[in-house]
Amino acid sequence: MAERVYLDWNATTPLRPEARAAMAAAFDLAGNPSSIHLEGRAARKLIEDARHQVATAVGAEPRNVVFTSGGTEANVLALQPGLVGASGEPLRRLVVSAIEHVSVLSGGQFFPSGHVEIAPVTPEGGVDLDKLRSLLAGQSPALVSVMLANNETGVIQPITEVARLVHGAGGLLHVDAVQALGKIPVDSRKLGADLISVSAHKLGGPKGAGAVVLAGDLQNFAPLLRGGGQERNRRAGTENVAGISGFGAAVAAALPALAAEMPRLTKLRERLEAGLLSFGDVAIMGAQAQRLPNTTLFAAPGVRAETAVIAFDLEGMAVSSGSACSSGKVTPSHVLNAMQVRSELVQGAIRLSSGYLTSEADIERCLEAWRKLRGVLGRG
Ligand code: PLP
Repeated sequence: MAERVYLDWNATTPLRPEARAAMAAAFDLAGNPSSIHLEGRAARKLIEDARHQVATAVGAEPRNVVFTSGGTEANVLALQPGLVGASGEPLRRLVVSAIEHVSVLSGGQFFPSGHVEIAPVTPEGGVDLDKLRSLLAGQSPALVSVMLANNETGVIQPITEVARLVHGAGGLLHVDAVQALGKIPVDSRKLGADLISVSAHKLGGPKGAGAVVLAGDLQNFAPLLRGGGQERNRRAGTENVAGISGFGAAVAAALPALAAEMPRLTKLRERLEAGLLSFGDVAIMGAQAQRLPNTTLFAAPGVRAETAVIAFDLEGMAVSSGSACSSGKVTPSHVLNAMQVRSELVQGAIRLSSGYLTSEADIERCLEAWRKLRGVLGRG
């Protein structure tokens, strides 16, 4: 039987061998990283090594890395009212782009007391800078959250321009870089981000580990839960030593490979998209925008995404629908709705996302499956 082809790397990634080895070593340590004895110090060392690795990966100081249980917690921890921006005022408004992950869209700690203001995107899937400028003008300064790369379309957002607008209006910028880290360079200083969220499992680390990285000391930054003083009083609770250690190892393995992986995956994506288009009547979302090298979101009129995902699965291939599916209920993608994609295509959006184990042969098998499926699904 042919091996499975995994093209759902934006959902999660296989554990890198380096991360597995780091975690196995961590599981053998008995100590609590807050203990001062030898066993405790050994566990602490793993965490501090990982902190260094994550900080280096995003161009920040290790002391400004706050480990969390993943990207969702990182986003909710970052989105807190009362942080102080350049204006010296506590920020009481939250502005987020329309295509954010649901953990950002739902407002983090601003919910339910404050409402979230939404910055629209263009039909190509990038945040609309003119509309953002007007949202920020003449009002009290805001905490603004715009992701670096979208999980569905892969569209890369104009973060440096966003940062200029936000800071010019006295606010602070949070950047969800969960999908970007390990796929494109992430440099918090160049981006101008005040807070960045990252997650281990999107780049070959374990599920359940992530971080918020701060650009510097942020006045009023408070933990989500009160408890022990871990993570410099910014995230209470005994650290997930193995998860954090696996995160550090994954980052350390992914980053040196980036320079070679970006052009390789771009080439695979170009081949994939040329193949899809050659079968006719296919729309690729955000095709003209700058995108992650590994992501293609496409739809063919008349083909429903849920049916296609099941059909691909039966062909031995893991792909994903562009619509969010939780608790068995499929809801249309808020990202594609925000891009004003017509509803037939929203219903049919299929996401193919690749990674370091994806080969040319995988892409050819995917194209062959799609050619066959279009026939089966009535579009041949
Ligand atoms: N932000 C983005 C852009 C994501 O794609 C995801 C996961 O899909 C998250 C945040 C949440 O990360 P985690 O699964 O680590 O909670």
